[in-house]
Amino acid sequence: MTTRRDMLFTATHSAIALSSLSLTGGALAAEKFKVTFTDAQWRAKLTPQQYTVLRREATERPGSSPLNSEHRAGTYSCAGCALPMFSSKTKFDSGTGWPSFWKPIDNAVATRKDRRFGMVEIEVHCSRCGGHMGHVFDDGPRPTGLRYCINGISLTFAAQTA
Ligand SMILES: [Zn+2]
Repeated sequence: MTTRRDMLFTATHSAIALSSLSLTGGALAAEKFKVTFTDAQWRAKLTPQQYTVLRREATERPGSSPLNSEHRAGTYSCAGCALPMFSSKTKFDSGTGWPSFWKPIDNAVATRKDRRFGMVEIEVHCSRCGGHMGHVFDDGPRPTGLRYCINGISLTFAAQTA
């Protein structure tokens, strides 16, 4: 069954796939990453959903990630290259339907201005492979006041072993 949200997701995805060639393609090309693969290699390495979000900057449906309800201690890493991105210590429930954090692990993420939807947002991506994570907003909790709004599908979670 196709829900209205699925259709919205698909429509957004197609629009983004097209626009990312001109917009973010340029930005990504200007930035150098340690981990690089060709587009075909990324497609082979990732699930179709991961590819669409990580490499084409789509946004997963809110509430769709199992990581929303993940409350164990552990580390969230990039689903593209396994670089640790966020600690569970900085995770909070933002009520948005996306896993949210108030601080990334040092040097894990890079940002750039994203003007795609007619307003300026700060896009967040993996500093090692360029994989799209989400966006950061300034309405988060203390101590940083930041809200890293992250696609759960861009992350893998490993619970801390005692
Ligand atoms: Zn990465």
